[in-house]
Amino acid sequence: MDWTTDLEMYREALRVERIGVARWDIKLDRVFGDSTMMVLYPDHLTNGAYSEFLLRRPELHPNDVKFFEALVRFVQAPHHEYADKSHEILIEYRLTDAENREQWFHAHFTVHFEKEWPRSAVLLLRSTDSEHRQEESLRQKAERDALTGLYNKGHARELIDEALAVPGTTKALLVLDMDGFKKVNDNLGHLFGDAVISDMALSLAEVFSSDGDIIGRVGGDEFVVLIRDVESRDALVSRCEALRDMLRRSFEYGKNRTLNVSGSVGIALSPQFGSSFETLFSCADKALYEAKRRGRDTQVFYTDELREGEKKNVGENEIAEGRQTLLDHPVEFIFRMLYETGNPRVTVETLLSLFAKYFMVQRVVIYQNQGENPGCWFEWHAAGTLPTEEAHEGAVGEFLNRNYRKEIYGHFLEFSDTTKINGPMAKTLADRNIFALLYASVMDGEKRIGCVGFEDCRGPRIWTKREHEVLRTFADILGTFLMDQMRYRMLRRAYRRLQGVLEAITGPLWVIATDNGHIGYMNKAARTMLANGENEEAKTCYKVRTDSNRPCIRCEHVGLLADCPGTLALRKEAERRGLVPIPIRWSKGQDGQLFLFDA
Ligand code: GH3
Ligand code: MG
Repeated sequence: MDWTTDLEMYREALRVERIGVARWDIKLDRVFGDSTMMVLYPDHLTNGAYSEFLLRRPELHPNDVKFFEALVRFVQAPHHEYADKSHEILIEYRLTDAENREQWFHAHFTVHFEKEWPRSAVLLLRSTDSEHRQEESLRQKAERDALTGLYNKGHARELIDEALAVPGTTKALLVLDMDGFKKVNDNLGHLFGDAVISDMALSLAEVFSSDGDIIGRVGGDEFVVLIRDVESRDALVSRCEALRDMLRRSFEYGKNRTLNVSGSVGIALSPQFGSSFETLFSCADKALYEAKRRGRDTQVFYTDELREGEKKNVGENEIAEGRQTLLDHPVEFIFRMLYETGNPRVTVETLLSLFAKYFMVQRVVIYQNQGENPGCWFEWHAAGTLPTEEAHEGAVGEFLNRNYRKEIYGHFLEFSDTTKINGPMAKTLADRNIFALLYASVMDGEKRIGCVGFEDCRGPRIWTKREHEVLRTFADILGTFLMDQMRYRMLRRAYRRLQGVLEAITGPLWVIATDNGHIGYMNKAARTMLANGENEEAKTCYKVRTDSNRPCIRCEHVGLLADCPGTLALRKEAERRGLVPIPIRWSKGQDGQLFLFDA
């Protein structure tokens, strides 16, 4: 074997691999490097005591000192288990170079023993810096979001879970979402949209990264921040406000068109509402939804009330069922409600808040153009949105009025996306959070006497055919029965007058439920005439007439009350005088007939 050639071959291999070799004489505590070591890694050699050198290198990263301490301790003690053998020790460490950059090295020590004592070690040293940089860039790719450089959702979740597990402080998880971002993409292009997202990330980093807060991007325009130590609620609100100030922007585009963006924040505190990313994120996300619902550009804390609200929503099935009935049989639904509440105004109010809930709109409105008080007769708006009168003030009201169109199935005012309207009205509507709306006219023949409508204050929305139909039905019913407040008031006045007349009539008059004999009304003459008439407790016809607690024999089934001799006689008399009995209802589930007699 040609040793010279082999040796040359090995030297060549080490040079190519940039591996320096050194021998450490442990007994003498001296180190001797080979030629590669001398050329590539001279700083890793010393003329003095090598163990001292290893422990006292000022450029050694402080976290890595411990590895060399362990090595020196190892070589200075006997090890029976390695007697007359060798043992390998690997150390990965960092030195800071002249330009203050970290450089990674890999040291492989093979320690040789004489009996139990370490006598010498062979060191193979190589720089692993480029490998580390590659690894780092792969790790970055796996952990970071490419557009913003912030943590991606997976990694943010890991870090946040770790941080939440550390007890002792109040922490807050924030979920942040840009308002109106889609419009940026739609009108200014995706690249511009990317720039806006990057800008949002920079603003977040500026406001939140100071105290080791964890910031991640979890979706298109959605970010999370974990604050490890919440000083106070006020301080947190101030930071959110500072952020929102930075996010609130207007972009000009096209001809005199402006687009506004802002940011909404949902906040959940830990440990109050949970100590895992999963739970807190879901709470903060609900608070964010609430912030959007309140009109955006605000922050909302997750609270017990929001949680209660959620519990109420568990009755979603009921709502879904009600929604289906309302959609499938709007007329029946509205009449049933009218019947159940027994009060048109309450019915209208209940229906409108149901509409808001079922159709997820933030504003429902009834206007009347006629009557004593033309204007907004009824309105419901979600918290955080402007009241209708304010939202429709001035030019908005006029604009809306001008834009009714006659469709096959009614007169409608409809916008699916008000930001697409040409001219300055788009901005005015957006400023008042009117992004989509659907109104149906209440008609009196060809005359528009009012309208009823929904508004979506969150963003564009396509109105479905079903929503048109329900609104149309409601408008028809309103027009026929309920719309004219004046007419309603007149009716009430007429009713009071009628009551006065009925009281003054000298003949007895009473109203009885046909199904159970309950008395709805007795005039004065009836009260004085009947045995128990003045007795407030006596609520049935049989109690009043015969002081019995049971229906009359012929009337055992009070459902057949019409057979009651008294009622039959009344009916006959009424017919004889050409009076028509008027079917009426005076409370839930009770029907009766009213007969009028004069003296
Ligand atoms: P809201 O106020 O309710 O949040 O409405 P919004 O208009 O901000 O809409 P939303 O948050 O629902 O939509 C975010 C959009 O972001 C949807 C998607 O098309 C877009 N998006 C997602 N990822 C990216 C991205 O990397 N770059 C750009 N430019 N757009 C993105
Ligand atoms: Mg958004």
